[in-house]
Amino acid sequence: MNDSPPELQVRDVTVRFAGLTALDGVGLTVAPGSVHALIGPNGAGKSTCFNVLSGLTRPASGTVRLGGTDLTRLAPHRIAALGVARTFQNIVTTEGTVADNLMLGRHAHSRAGFAASALRLPRAVREQREHRARAREIAELTGLARHFDSPVALLSYGDRKRVELARALCLEPRVLLLDEPVAGMNAAERARTAEVVREVRAGLGLSVLLVEHDMGLVMRLADEVTVLDFGRVIAHGTPDEVRRDPEVLRAYLGTPGEEDAA
Ligand code: ADP
Ligand code: MG
Repeated sequence: MNDSPPELQVRDVTVRFAGLTALDGVGLTVAPGSVHALIGPNGAGKSTCFNVLSGLTRPASGTVRLGGTDLTRLAPHRIAALGVARTFQNIVTTEGTVADNLMLGRHAHSRAGFAASALRLPRAVREQREHRARAREIAELTGLARHFDSPVALLSYGDRKRVELARALCLEPRVLLLDEPVAGMNAAERARTAEVVREVRAGLGLSVLLVEHDMGLVMRLADEVTVLDFGRVIAHGTPDEVRRDPEVLRAYLGTPGEEDAA
């Protein structure tokens, strides 16, 4: 249970959409148990990279490996079952209670099957009870316990976004992919979510790959940072190294600073 997660390796991945190269020979490695941030300007290819990692987009070339397993051409549900779970940039649930949403995340682990559940066979009933107990633990870990039986529609925006995170955790991932987990949140909600990510990483022993525009949060959370610009990796290193990289400054600011020209 507490063995470290497998390394996630992206090697030389290229993705083309009609006439546009969204990813161009991208490589990165998420070290076991680390928080790795993937940053870059809008349109850099960050979400496309997540889509490749979760099996929604097939790359033209390149490979994705989790430990010894090649994920590159597997279907999304197979990748999820192998321990890679994600949240989406723009999707926030409005249906059902927090518990309902977390139980959806548990389905990948269901052994009893729908027929047995519908017939309320003893094994299925026991299994449902276990899933609910685990869902509750994950709600506690993500700060959602007091809302467990509340309709998601009544929660604050920050809590609703954390329901997405909790639902991904219900898949018991070894690697968690978070696409802009604090986008649209206020400062207090951002700080709370950052704390949750830190606690979850430590408590569940996961690796995290994080796409985020909030640089303060990236600098505080990440062990390593990879920077994309126009589908290419332009820098990689510790947050401190990346922050001072001239290529990165240029990508974010558009033009080189006066000092660079001098
Ligand atoms: P980011 O998440 O870094 O903002 P994306 O990965 O969403 O960037 O997009 C990278 C580039 O690929 C953009 O130019 C975007 O318009 C394009 N793109 C993304 N998805 C598709 C798609 N399904 N079809 C065509 N172009 C796409
Ligand atoms: Mg995106």
